Amino acid sequence: MNKYKQSAKALLLISLSGAGLLVWLIVLSRSRPVNDWLLAIGVVGIALVCVAAALVWRVLRSLDQPIHELIKSAEQIGSGNYATQVTVGDDENLAPLEQALEHMRQKLQQTSINSNYLTTVLDSMNDAVLVTTQDTVITRVNAAAEALFGFSIDQLIGKSLNEMLVAVERPGQDVTPALLELDEAVIRTASGQTIPVSVSRSSLNAASTEFKGTIFVMRDITDRKRAERRIRYLARFDSLTKLPNRMQFQHLLQQGIARARRSDRIVALLYLDLDRFKEINDTFGHEAGDRTLEILSERLTRALPKEAVLGRLAGDEFAVFIEGIDPHEDERAQTASIARVVLSEISKVFYVQQHELFLTVSIGIAFCPRDAENVIDLIRHADAAMYYSKQNSGNNFAFYTPEMNAAAVERLMLKSKLRRALEREELVMLYQPKVDLQTNTVIGAEALLRWRLPGFGDIAPSQFIPLAEETSLILGIGDWVMNRVCEDYKRWNAQIVDPGRISINLSLKQLHQASFVARCRNIFRRHEVNPSCFELEITETTLMQDPKRTIKLLDELFAMGVSLSIDDFGTGYSSLSALQQFPISTLKIDQSFVRGIDENKDDATIVRAIIDMGNAMGMKVLAEGVETRVQLDYLKAHQCHYAQGHLFGKAISAEDFLAMMIAQQNGQYQVAALFA
Ligand code: C2E
Ligand code: MG
Ligand code: MG
Repeated sequence: MNKYKQSAKALLLISLSGAGLLVWLIVLSRSRPVNDWLLAIGVVGIALVCVAAALVWRVLRSLDQPIHELIKSAEQIGSGNYATQVTVGDDENLAPLEQALEHMRQKLQQTSINSNYLTTVLDSMNDAVLVTTQDTVITRVNAAAEALFGFSIDQLIGKSLNEMLVAVERPGQDVTPALLELDEAVIRTASGQTIPVSVSRSSLNAASTEFKGTIFVMRDITDRKRAERRIRYLARFDSLTKLPNRMQFQHLLQQGIARARRSDRIVALLYLDLDRFKEINDTFGHEAGDRTLEILSERLTRALPKEAVLGRLAGDEFAVFIEGIDPHEDERAQTASIARVVLSEISKVFYVQQHELFLTVSIGIAFCPRDAENVIDLIRHADAAMYYSKQNSGNNFAFYTPEMNAAAVERLMLKSKLRRALEREELVMLYQPKVDLQTNTVIGAEALLRWRLPGFGDIAPSQFIPLAEETSLILGIGDWVMNRVCEDYKRWNAQIVDPGRISINLSLKQLHQASFVARCRNIFRRHEVNPSCFELEITETTLMQDPKRTIKLLDELFAMGVSLSIDDFGTGYSSLSALQQFPISTLKIDQSFVRGIDENKDDATIVRAIIDMGNAMGMKVLAEGVETRVQLDYLKAHQCHYAQGHLFGKAISAEDFLAMMIAQQNGQYQVAALFA
């Protein structure tokens, strides 16, 4: 300040001197005429006054400039520009002000960096962040919140977050409770769309009540919800057919039973199991199988009455229930008409992958409350009736009776007993003669297995082979059969020159058992029998399952000298070209066609076609299950090579077969039917 005082004193002195000189000049000029001196003094005075004025102007300017600078800087800071430093020159008087302003600028700059940084962080978050007052009025949001709600920041701020929620009905809750308690909510966006969101919150504990509130973090969980719905759906519905699965079907049935009980009505349950569906899968592949099931489900859904509930319980098992059956009407008649609809829909041709497929189904029917009071028993009983229907050649329906359930229990018991059958030597091998229709002689036999279960009598293979195939018991049984046949053969061969060729039935599991070929070779070797004395029978269906692998196996067996035949021919779906790949020597026409020769023209034509086809392919043809003369005559007339059936003889013991062959060798035995 001193500097300014001194400058002011000097200025005062100069201007006073100038002014004094001018006054003196004016006084003198009144008393005498102006001469050069006076003029000079006047000029000096004016000059001094001018200098003083110039100096004042300068001093005032130098005083004003830094303040101006300060004002400019302050204005820039005020408008948010914190980048330019505050400098006002070297005026020591303004230095403290300058420093204070610079300090403030730096502070504000730092705060602004922090604030920008926080905004960047918030805006980079995928989750929507909404800061609200204590009564959920929005005060701040990030970019994700804008995107989620579809409103701009300005539109969001001031809105009540609670009011942007959609009332969702939940079990036990009528409407959405206050947002503050939710973990999940549904919001309504600017476009009116509803979006499920997850909600997490934390309270904003600011010192000032003005800033107290809540920070909400929300995330769009549409995808998760969709996945959850899908999982829930998949847990209850079959993904292929879109029908209720077993769990859901049982659940619906349970509800149906409860409703029917309240209104004194009857629930009918139809249990459906497709007959030989496995063959479609095995022959045409699983894709074709799946497609068939899809078509079937669509057909049944369309054909069944509206009140019927259809479900897929397992692979080829379906079920239908109808809950409103009138107890005053005949419930059997009412249900039978539905069963007939099912049978007829399923018997229609299925066009799958350019194939024409035919299916049949076995249906078991049980009623609630007459046959069972609860879901589990009702299903079990309908299943038992279905099993009964299937045993009776399928393609039909049967109503449950208590004896059927006993049969199902028996089946389970059999399974456990079968495990011990081998140890207890309960298996027996019988031999059914095969005859040559040209030479009229017995040319061998088919080895047929029996299970002689004490208390049950002889159990047919159709009863226990499928049970054995469900487990790996079939492998032990298969080994036992091979060994027993080789032993018997060895014994016979010791007494006669040629006991003929003996056929052994093979199941798929056996064929695909590890090192099956080596096992066969070992068995033949151990018993010192020639493999060419045996023929392995493989069903057409087995053959077509995994054909590549089967061809390889059969080639090895063939190379060993074993003959191979296709069993139950005509029941599978093999094509001629497929058959040609296998080293097969004999086709065995399934007995269902042979049986039909008598009355069914189609069957007779099929038998004839198979014989012709076998001949064309250089194979021998054997007709199974020949029972009548008409059948025999037809077969002979069409040059069928071999035959087998009750007409020539049932399956007999190894001893009886040996006796028969010895008698034939000695000319003391003739197959009666062939000479009648
Ligand atoms: P398959 O190989 O087709 O055997 C022919 C079946 O027809 C035999 O029934 C036989 O007793 C029966 N049969 C023969 N002639 C006539 C007839 O004139 N009329 C009637 N109604 N039936 C006749 P079986 O012995 O009950 O065998 C059934 C099936 O069990 C066999 O069918 C075969 O696939 C299987 N099987 C039998 N033994 C074995 C075995 O040792 N191992 C395996 N894996 N399966 C076997
Ligand atoms: Mg057979
Ligand atoms: Mg057969």
